[in-house]
Amino acid sequence: MAVAALWFCPAAVGAAPSDPHYAGELTLSVDLSDPGQKIFRVHESIPAKAGAVTLYYPKWIPGEHSPSGTISQVAGLVISTDSGQRVEWRRDLDDMFTLHLAVPPATASLQLEFQLLSPGPGGAFGQSVSATDDIEDLEWNQVLFYPAGYAVRNITVRPSARLPPGWGYASALAGNPANAGVVQFDAVSLEQLVDSPLITGRYFARIDLAPGADVPVHLDLVADHASDLQVSDAQLQQHRNLVAQAQALFGAHHYQHYDFLFTLSQNTGHFGLEHSQSSDDRLFARFFTDPDTYLAGGGLLPHEYVHSWNGKFRRPAGLATPNYNVPMRGELLWVYEGLTTYLGDVLTARSGIWSAEQYREQLAAIAAGMDHRPGRAWRNLQDTADEAQVLYYVPGDWSSWRRGVDYYDEGELIWLDVDMTIRELSSGHRSLDDFVRAFFGTDNGSFIVKPYDFDDIVRTLNAVQPNDWAGYLRNRLDTHATPAPLEGIARSGWALSYDDQPSATFKARGKVRKYLDLRYSLGLIVSTEADSYGKLLDVLWNSPAFTAGLAPGMTVLAINGRKFDPERVDEQLTAAKSATVPIDILAQNFDSFTTVRLDYHGGPMYPHLTRLAAGADRLAGVIAPKAP
Ligand SMILES: [Zn+2]
Repeated sequence: MAVAALWFCPAAVGAAPSDPHYAGELTLSVDLSDPGQKIFRVHESIPAKAGAVTLYYPKWIPGEHSPSGTISQVAGLVISTDSGQRVEWRRDLDDMFTLHLAVPPATASLQLEFQLLSPGPGGAFGQSVSATDDIEDLEWNQVLFYPAGYAVRNITVRPSARLPPGWGYASALAGNPANAGVVQFDAVSLEQLVDSPLITGRYFARIDLAPGADVPVHLDLVADHASDLQVSDAQLQQHRNLVAQAQALFGAHHYQHYDFLFTLSQNTGHFGLEHSQSSDDRLFARFFTDPDTYLAGGGLLPHEYVHSWNGKFRRPAGLATPNYNVPMRGELLWVYEGLTTYLGDVLTARSGIWSAEQYREQLAAIAAGMDHRPGRAWRNLQDTADEAQVLYYVPGDWSSWRRGVDYYDEGELIWLDVDMTIRELSSGHRSLDDFVRAFFGTDNGSFIVKPYDFDDIVRTLNAVQPNDWAGYLRNRLDTHATPAPLEGIARSGWALSYDDQPSATFKARGKVRKYLDLRYSLGLIVSTEADSYGKLLDVLWNSPAFTAGLAPGMTVLAINGRKFDPERVDEQLTAAKSATVPIDILAQNFDSFTTVRLDYHGGPMYPHLTRLAAGADRLAGVIAPKAP
């Protein structure tokens, strides 16, 4: 995206922010004492002098890789001088996140009053539900404006938050405990503030994941129900293992302390957002108390933790922007997200959150998804990263043809193959762990961003194991060939295969997310959610369902004359194996009803990894815990 030229204050926007510190200190007070109405009330003070001033609302959100700032949720904005004189503002005509003001003489500061109308259901990341009667998750970038023309590391802000009475809270910010309901945090750079979200909740627990360590790591939990805070001894040990295994893998850390800010709720959005010294992790209420939910979501915290190294400390140059209103470039997200997906899953297994079998089931599910991506014929993997700015917000329909943020899953397959190739070429003496330690394991304790480019990746790989890594990586990024890059799985001693029994992981994903995944048989994903029961969430391009004329958004009412029942579909597919007639599906499309015929006789199909007869089981070596 090009930066818009401005009519009002061209020097402030679009030009690289200057390096000097912004004079004075911003103060920011957020009132979170009204969770039920989901209104976050803000008072902000910005030192300012007379003359033309441009203010930004954060637009490009770190970790979201998109211009996804919540400007449309800001209301009630009134700006005054410190002497109480109202200052009119005008929004930039090209950029909705930019305000222009003429500050009157004898002004020392601007006083901003506004509300963030915290989002309702349906959005992604920070645009999803962040407040319930029992929980509030605050992303500071949603509740502030800042002066244009400066790098955010050079703007100082002193934040505070008023919490509902008696609620617990956690953040990577340092500060004083609540006094009359207000937590006063120490002054930090604007960069550090936005990198340090706050969670607060009626039901709260704080668990030490590194007892006795010099560098503390905590698991901070908020939930809608006290019973959701019950962490078993085994789960506690697994997450302590995660901290130890990450340290053993990277050999250095990039935080002074680390907090997993974990929201357990059916009502909030479900995602993870990485930060240097914390992560904003939001999953289903029964994560710790339902084994399927734990299995389906167990990889989230390891993924976000890896980002402290890969994404925060080391960051692609195109994503290491000086402030939140300079566009981000996602071209290296196959490293930022793809390598994190690989390392996150490996650490999930090394820490024992997943068993070896569960790790392989996860890998099989990812490999099968990428192996059914006919869209690679028109869009290579590189283009999915290049278009990341919008791909997080596209619908999930036609995903096999459209391709979405495939650099996560396909990135995992590529980095697995890089790992296997290093192990093969070095006769087992070296592995991707050596690259990880060389690339991320420097500057212990520092969380000053260290940007990188493609050549830095290639250079470090070559230092670990000489190879034509540039050619190797470009070939996988730029290809339109099918199938998916499954060479790493083969080199690991396994093969992607399909049979009629879904794995425990495959079943758990469908149960928790409420869908039936028939992509590898009929070519469908069907909702099992009560309010969209039978709705086609996706149809695989060129599958039997596609050929028969089905499309996402239609609703499956009956299969072979019987009411749609997710529990019976496998029986029906098995019966159709020996039938000579097609499978009939009665579907509704808006106010039309239609019966389509699927000429499919392959039976149920679910992905697995099966052991190759020849070759060592290198996956076992990958997920073996490392000695501390
Ligand atoms: Zn990620």
